[in-house]
Amino acid sequence: MEGKEAEELRSRARKKGEMAWRAVEYKTTVYKDSKQPNPPVYFIHLDSKTSSPPRPPPPPPPPPTPLTRQVLSLAGGSYLPSPNTPFVLLASHYIFPSSSSSEIHIERTQKQKTPLLILPNPHHKNTTNSIIFISLVLVTCIALSAASAFAFLFFSSSSSSPSVPPTEISSASLQTTARPLTKLNHSVVLLISSDGFRFGYQFKTPAPNIHRLIANGTEAETGLIPVFPTLTFPNHYSIVTGLYPAYHGIINNHFADPKTGELFTMASHEPKWWLGEPLWETVVKQGLKASTYFWPGSEVHKGSWTCPQRFCMFYNGSVPFDERVDTVLSYFDLPDSEIPVFMTLYFEDPDHQGHKVGPDDPEITEAVAGIDRMIGKLIDGLEQRGVFEDVTIIMVGDHGMVGTCDKKLIFLDDLAPWIDISTEWVQSYTPLLAIRPPPGLAPSAVVAKMNEGLQSGKVQNGKHLKIYLKEELPSRLHYTESDRIPPIIGMVDEGFKVEQKRTNKQECGGAHGYDNAVFSMRTIFIGHGPQFARGRKVPSFENVQIYNLVTSILNIQGAPNNGSVSFPSTVLLPNPS
Ligand SMILES: [Zn+2]
Repeated sequence: MEGKEAEELRSRARKKGEMAWRAVEYKTTVYKDSKQPNPPVYFIHLDSKTSSPPRPPPPPPPPPTPLTRQVLSLAGGSYLPSPNTPFVLLASHYIFPSSSSSEIHIERTQKQKTPLLILPNPHHKNTTNSIIFISLVLVTCIALSAASAFAFLFFSSSSSSPSVPPTEISSASLQTTARPLTKLNHSVVLLISSDGFRFGYQFKTPAPNIHRLIANGTEAETGLIPVFPTLTFPNHYSIVTGLYPAYHGIINNHFADPKTGELFTMASHEPKWWLGEPLWETVVKQGLKASTYFWPGSEVHKGSWTCPQRFCMFYNGSVPFDERVDTVLSYFDLPDSEIPVFMTLYFEDPDHQGHKVGPDDPEITEAVAGIDRMIGKLIDGLEQRGVFEDVTIIMVGDHGMVGTCDKKLIFLDDLAPWIDISTEWVQSYTPLLAIRPPPGLAPSAVVAKMNEGLQSGKVQNGKHLKIYLKEELPSRLHYTESDRIPPIIGMVDEGFKVEQKRTNKQECGGAHGYDNAVFSMRTIFIGHGPQFARGRKVPSFENVQIYNLVTSILNIQGAPNNGSVSFPSTVLLPNPS
């Protein structure tokens, strides 16, 4: 169900505040409208997880999973079929409404897509008219099914890769190649970051706009994996350079240059700190335009990027989110050749609230709803300009969030019987403990003493902190190859915090910065646009892959980076040959 009709239904449902029924598993959205006595019949294509292009190789298909009550309720729906329910869903090959419970079971019996019908519920105060109506629809359905089954058999016998039947009733779900642009004359990528948007926040509240992007786009099924340390500046800069922090130089939100002792802070804009080539630089280097409405590193003049006044906003957290969205939308009112082909848009929420109250608090729910409203405003503005389907929206976060509380503290002063850790050695405490001991004191000796103390059983929560020489950190963290990384790194367990000494302050809140293998540090990845298949799920991946994804969509040459060259072809629809 695409186009005007669908949108009308959606907005009517939104206005009435009615619950939406979402067949989450297949990213098909169905809206209930009980005020409509004789609803029209809609053909909807189930855009299943297996709907990937024949080339490149798709991710391994997940096992068929019944759509459980839990999933439905997460998505804000409930089902069926009670005599009071005016509609039923029918799709002969997929949908089996259970008669004994309120669950709807969706089972995959074939790989091909099958039309899904929404019909008036025959048990719902029936009328002769609707029986005739249903019968007609069923006859049509059977005829169409037979036709497509025939077509499927016919074409699969002459084709070696029939994972998607070549004939479809609607072309919307037939996605073997990228959809053509209809209004813009060049691909445009809008990269949106919602700071600290932990994976799973999208289920805290209905978030219809974010879910619209998910339903009609491609999502990292279990979230986007941040880089270590899971902090704001290192991650935002990894997203736009494709480099791990050891290689792009922003190894922490603040650190000292080991040679000069100079301090890097989040307000440092000198190019010497910011290594690698961020996307805005890559884009302008090729004669195209880029714009940044806030992003760590965007104010830095690097190569061809001069942070032009018109397209580069200097960070100011007090600018209302609405104003940011309005400005980005205004770029689409420019003459075609002036529209930046790469744009960033940044929101501080829900990170801001997460630190204060932790991830499980009504304040977070409200912040997520606020971000969703901004996505809705953006979509509306793009639709008004007729470019929503042309623009590639990539929505990400930089990291997740986990609750912390004062019972989960580790104090460095407690290590005094083994070694005195001076505050002057410590560059950052928590969750990334980074220590540079003075010259003359061997880092390996400090590590040994600290671990001895922590493992002695005599230090409060000692077993939740492990100290490493940076060269001995697990290689998956990629956190060794930079002089800026202090020689001693402490890895603290999820939710624990390191402090120098005991104080009276009571603290409960949220933090991030932990091992990037920790699930609570994951964030979201949603891609929506001509090269992203609708309703597709891909396995989780690290955010260093996004750089190549963007250069691939824009069809421009990127700089060398830590992402995989072949990654984009596993996520994007190929351009028609
Ligand atoms: Zn952040």
